[in-house]
Order: sequence, then C-alpha cells, then structure tokens
Amino acid sequence: MLNFSRNKLVSIARKDEDTLLVHGILDDVIYGLEVDATVRISDMTFLSVNGKWNRYTTPECPKALPFLREATGFCINDKNITQKLQKTVGRKGCRHFATILIECCRSVKEAVRIIQWEAIKADHPNLTFEEFVNGEPREASYDSAEEKASPPHIEVREKTVRKDMPDARDSGGQDKTSGGFVIDLHTHTFPASPCSSVSEDDLITEAKRISLDGICLADHNYVWPVSRVEDLIQKHGFPVFRGNEVTTDQGHMLVFGLEKEIRSGGLVKIEELREAVEEADGFMIVAHPFRGFLTFGVGQLGLTVEKAMERPFFKYVDAIEVMNGKVTEKENGFASEVSAALGLPVTGGSDAHEVSEVGLYATRFPDSIKNENDLLNALKSGKGSPLAFRKEKTMV
Ligand SMILES: [Zn+2]
Ligand SMILES: [Zn+2]
Repeated sequence: MLNFSRNKLVSIARKDEDTLLVHGILDDVIYGLEVDATVRISDMTFLSVNGKWNRYTTPECPKALPFLREATGFCINDKNITQKLQKTVGRKGCRHFATILIECCRSVKEAVRIIQWEAIKADHPNLTFEEFVNGEPREASYDSAEEKASPPHIEVREKTVRKDMPDARDSGGQDKTSGGFVIDLHTHTFPASPCSSVSEDDLITEAKRISLDGICLADHNYVWPVSRVEDLIQKHGFPVFRGNEVTTDQGHMLVFGLEKEIRSGGLVKIEELREAVEEADGFMIVAHPFRGFLTFGVGQLGLTVEKAMERPFFKYVDAIEVMNGKVTEKENGFASEVSAALGLPVTGGSDAHEVSEVGLYATRFPDSIKNENDLLNALKSGKGSPLAFRKEKTMV
C-alpha cells in the first residue's frame, strides 16, 4: 500500500504597518522545504523571498534556491501570479517551492482582508468578517484609518519639467469631446507600480490614440526623474506630467509638485505629507476616498454624507478624486456627494493599470497646460471638472 501525505503550513506576522513576514513550510514523505518572504501591503509585492531545504533527493535540488529570489517584485494581486510563480520558480527552480509560494500568496490575501476589516471596523464595530468578505468583490485595497508609528523621511527637492510640452492637438488629436485640456491625472506603469501591466510607452501611445491632451504618471510612492519624463515627451510628442500616489496612514493621496523620497518601512503620516506638499507649494488630492467602503451598501454601514465628511483626511487635502476607474459607480457617486457638501474641488482619473483603462476617467481644465507649473496652477484654480472620457468618446 502506498502512503503519501503532504502538509503545507503558512504563518504570517505583521512586521510593521506596511510589511508582512511570511513563512511557508512544505513537508511530504520525500521533500521538506521552507520559504521566508516579506510582502509590502500597500502594493502587495514581494520585497524578498528566500528558502531552504530540510530534505531533498538529488544534488540538483539545492540549485533551485537562487530562482526563488526571482519572485522578488512580483505582485500578489497580479491575476497571473500563479502562472508567473510556476514559470519562474517552478520550471526554472523547483515546483515544490512554487507550490508553497502560491499557498503563501493565498494566505497573504486572507491576512490583508483581515487587516482591512479591522481598519473598517474602527468606524463600524458591528461589521462581522463574514459581512465584510461577502460584501467585497473587488481586489484588495488598503486604506486604513488607524494611527501609525514611525515617521517617514520626506525630502523636498526643487526639480520640475520646465520645457513646454508639445500640444497633442498639433499631432492629430482634433476629435476631442469638447474644448478645454483633458488630462488623465491618475495612471500606473510597470515596473514602477508592480500591479500595473502597462509600460509608460504603451500608456502614452494609447493616451495619444484616444486624443487625450495629456497624461499624468502617478505611480505608487515613486517620483519619475525629470530627465526620463522629458525624454518621453520628446519621444512621443505628447504632454506627460508627473504625479505620485503616496500611501499614507489615511489612504492613498495623489500629490503634485512634490519630489519626495520615503525611507523604506512605515507608512507616511498624512500630516507630514501635507506639510511637505505645502512647503513645496504643491497640490494634494485624496484618491478613491471610499474604495471598498460602500460595497456592502451605504445603508448597511450607516455611512451618511454627514458622517463621511468627518473623515479626518479631508482636512488635509486640496481636492477629492470623485471619478476613479477602480471603484464602483456608487463609491464615485458618494465621493461626489461628499465633495459637494465639503465644497472641495473635484478631479477624475482612470487609475489605469492596463492599456484599455487609459482615459476611463479624466479631468478637463479650461485652458491649455504646457508644463508642470501650469498643471499646478490649473489644479489650484479649482476649475477642473472630471469626465468619463473614454465612455463619452464611445471607444472600445
Ligand atoms: Zn490608490
Ligand atoms: Zn492608483
């Protein structure tokens, strides 16, 4: 009689606000191995992956270890993560390591759900985990309202793209929906944002194709170097702007006009980000303020506009993103109601992570925008208005 058993065990600990430590063990009658990984919660990427053998069969087995490290930078929310791990770690290294890493990904997703639930519970103490999970069909978002420790290091540098941008309308963008200057203020590129699948070149090419007037690269906690953006502008003959989506202790903030570097570990405190933005005379927009908060229904959580207005982050922002391509219409609608009640300016951006999402939403400004200073002034004027650009143009 043939007996076979395989045990897989994953344990997860929270190292700090934004980092999970993951330990996985696979043990069967023949093989025994372990992996140690760290995962950044805000973008769900592997920061490090290491492993060791406890029992193995051939001298070939230990050679698999270096391939494990190739999973560093992989995003757990990537829809092809299983295939990627099988291909990179499994085929080149060892399929047992791939198996346990795939298990680790599942567990990390679960752990992050619990973290999100706990954050939301601060406002809604009666919400059970079951209600939370059943009401949340979207991929993990991490917008916690808890108090966080360890102040980050923010550096302000003076660097802007000074040269005037080419006018997109000079190069075939005539059939725009109607007047003004339309920018997608919120897009993500790979590899700067590991969850994105689109390169900056493809993103800009698509923006140009659908006749946007400009596009803003707003990667997670990353500031594009001026020289690279200037090269992109030259290469594509298209206006490219820089923003930065910063993960703070009170959710995601889109900041403009700020060159900042954050030391690894610890979330940025919103007060400190605000201070830095003010020092740089920049602009700060709260991105998707109610992402994941309304999937259970407004009534169920008893979240009213009045209550929502009291959320502390509204005190620190200049504007509210009320059209975001990654949240439900209900969540956008609610953000819109809250912004009207607060009297804060509003913006729109696709939050594109794929080519087909570029321009889903955008912001129209009344006047032409030629450089980063123009963009800052346009934002500060409060005259931007969000629109469903892609839909209005009825394109596929
Ligand atoms: Zn975000
Ligand atoms: Zn985003």
